Amino acid sequence: MAVIIVSNRLPVKISRKGEKYIFKKSEGGLATGLSSVGDKNWKWIGWPGTIIDKEKDKANLTQELRKQGLIPVYLSRTEIKDFYEGFSNETIWPNFHYFTQFSIYNQAFWESYVKVNQKYCTEILKHARSGDTIWIHDYHLLLLPSLLRQKLKKCQIGFFLHIPFPSYEIFRQIPWHAEILHGLIGADLIGFHTYDYLQYFLDSLSRVLGLNHLGGTLEVDGRAIICDVFPMGINAEMFERAAMSSQVKAFEEKIRKSVGDQKMILSVDRLDYTKGITARLKAFQSFLGKYPEWREKVSLIQILVPSRDSVKQYADLKEEINRIVGEINSDYGTLNWVPVYYFYRSFTFENLVGFYRLADVAMVTPLRDGMNLVAKEYVISRGDQPGSLVLSLLAGASNELPEAIIINPYDHNELRDSIHFALSLPDNEKKERMKRMIANIKRSDVNTWVKFFLNRLDFAAEKQRALKTRLVDRQVIKEIRKEYGIKPDRIFFLDYDGTLTGFKDSPEKAVPDKTLLKLIEKLSKTKENKVVIVSGRNREQLDKWFGKLEIDLVAEHGCVVKRQGAWSDLAEVADEWKADVVEVLKQFTDWTAGTFIEEKTHSLAWHYRKADSRLGLHRSRELINHLRHITAGKNLKVLDGEMVVEVKNAEVNKGRACLSFLKDLPDKSFIFAAGDDWTDEDMFGVLGKNSVTVKVGSNVSLARYTVRSYKEVRGLLRTLLDEKFITDQE
Ligand code: UDP
Repeated sequence: MAVIIVSNRLPVKISRKGEKYIFKKSEGGLATGLSSVGDKNWKWIGWPGTIIDKEKDKANLTQELRKQGLIPVYLSRTEIKDFYEGFSNETIWPNFHYFTQFSIYNQAFWESYVKVNQKYCTEILKHARSGDTIWIHDYHLLLLPSLLRQKLKKCQIGFFLHIPFPSYEIFRQIPWHAEILHGLIGADLIGFHTYDYLQYFLDSLSRVLGLNHLGGTLEVDGRAIICDVFPMGINAEMFERAAMSSQVKAFEEKIRKSVGDQKMILSVDRLDYTKGITARLKAFQSFLGKYPEWREKVSLIQILVPSRDSVKQYADLKEEINRIVGEINSDYGTLNWVPVYYFYRSFTFENLVGFYRLADVAMVTPLRDGMNLVAKEYVISRGDQPGSLVLSLLAGASNELPEAIIINPYDHNELRDSIHFALSLPDNEKKERMKRMIANIKRSDVNTWVKFFLNRLDFAAEKQRALKTRLVDRQVIKEIRKEYGIKPDRIFFLDYDGTLTGFKDSPEKAVPDKTLLKLIEKLSKTKENKVVIVSGRNREQLDKWFGKLEIDLVAEHGCVVKRQGAWSDLAEVADEWKADVVEVLKQFTDWTAGTFIEEKTHSLAWHYRKADSRLGLHRSRELINHLRHITAGKNLKVLDGEMVVEVKNAEVNKGRACLSFLKDLPDKSFIFAAGDDWTDEDMFGVLGKNSVTVKVGSNVSLARYTVRSYKEVRGLLRTLLDEKFITDQE
């Protein structure tokens, strides 16, 4: 099976020599990470990074690239303008980095974005085979997962976002935000650098598409999708090796000779407004003002890698940087000392490592950055020399490097003082911090990242296979009947709403009808059978409906149990938390017409089925966020149900309630359970694969079998009793 990598750019640098194109493979992090993973058959699809007009040139270059497993997607000038510079870099990039003032929402950009994503899809379809793994990268290709999914049913599709995912409030400013989410959920695995980005994404899915997750897994069209966190690492070994090389050492010595023995601070950024360059320069300027003892003793090297400087914002930024650097050097510089060395160009890998080796302090202070690799590269290159990393809390890397000097780049004074702090730390503390950061970076380097992502993608596929339940058909019924017939002791755990009755959206109508009551009675009167209704409803309601039958009851999702006619708590459950939670629920009830609170013995429920459905859903998202916050660390669980939000003790669930019944049952009994929502998954989970577990309405479940509606559950039960086939009728 092949692994197909798809990214906007191929990992090559192309130049032209006369009539011929020549290219050099660039060994970026991803490329080296991929080559470390076994002997897989790799292909890489992407734009070669240059506009080629002539068909003959395209054919030649395609042929050359193919020899290296690279497959080009050629983009026209207009596509580069509208898809790449336009929608990707002037809509998504600023929005996802919270620079909404720079975001342009332009219909032509969007249309081009859709078209180019389709173009990538068409190219991939020429190369992908059933069973292949396709790993799509980054914000240029957000629609590609679903485009591919429509055509490729049997491939595993992974997606990784290399930039931040913004909070819902920001994301929804994009007029096409719902389309973007629809585009992404074609993947089997969706990865982010940090837990926060993951949460923001899941939150948007819930609010915009009404898709709720369970532990990061969601279900779309009968498919399980895993969303998870994979902080990207660097090729640590390559930097370590380079740091020790004679070439790097020679470069380091050369600079050291020309700057003397003063302290050096280093910053390396692409020219971009997200990088916080002007704020940092201004902080350095103030630092020289506030701490005159450092004048002539420290310089800042600012390396700025050219980027998009034909775009006005970037040109303006560059001018502003030039101005501040000029001001600092003219205000503070002396004949013997240059405060800021400023380079507007990129350096070779070895020279860059040489700069890292030289720097006593690295300042990585972006205003927002998905990860930031420079931070990690500096630490590794520095090795066992003392060094200080000043790192923005708004860079993804700060989650993994808590030993850095973490600052808020918007706090001018903190930034200014952090320079003094970083320079003044005792060497042994600097070394200790570096040692811990190095260990972290090595442990999760780029090879680990690639392996981890691909393993998780395999796992996602496996999970889908495992979760794909069997539809109950004649053959299945035959098997279940056989089991039923040969096992002398039997227990039936039956969820009520949605499983034995319909009316999911208006539960007040879901009163058990005569046919159902008769069926349950007959089931329970059969000598070997025991019937337990396992519901989220309160005990009064269940008693009213089923009190006269000889069956047991589990109410409130497993909080209270009625066994042989007597109700009891399943566990010692403390309820003093209710007072705080009820206050919050009251606020939301006053605020949202049509919602109401239901107090159950050991739980509280907030119903919104009678409210405006969109407002109800909207408020419920906010309520859940709020409740998760106030219940954190309190052993409480917030359930996101059908038009209801419920809070209950975390240890009590339907699964645990079922187990309490199994204690009295001989081994190898016939165990049957049916349910329709995710609170029933707890039952399916504990009862295991040897029980007859039936999920209503979905084929992604821990259950063994699936049926389409509650009518089929009734039919199945009747078949067991009547010993004749009835599957689909009421
Ligand atoms: N870099 C480079 N040449 C240079 C300066 C920097 O190749 O002259 C590389 C650097 O090693 C790092 C990357 O550019 O791997 C920048 O990645 P980062 O995540 O820090 O920021 P991005 O530019 O991706 O936003």
